[in-house]
Amino acid sequence: MARCDVCGNDYDKAFQVIHDGQTHTFDSFECAIHELAPTCAHCGCRVIGHGVEAKGTFYCCAHCAKQSGVKGVDDRV
Ligand SMILES: [Zn+2]
Ligand SMILES: [Zn+2]
Repeated sequence: MARCDVCGNDYDKAFQVIHDGQTHTFDSFECAIHELAPTCAHCGCRVIGHGVEAKGTFYCCAHCAKQSGVKGVDDRV
């Protein structure tokens, strides 16, 4: 049994994620995303996929990066 770091749910199918050397316990991907996923610097949504990283800032897509003035990024087609 393990307790979720985010919501405190005690769940027998909880899983652990090691992030930056720290172990986190979650009962669901929703909670894991809430805790670990970066936030798009332009639109504020959670970056679940690969996203775009420019100068240490995360964006959900190349469109958002461009809107924030980042040059040379493109979504892969
Ligand atoms: Zn949870
Ligand atoms: Zn965005």
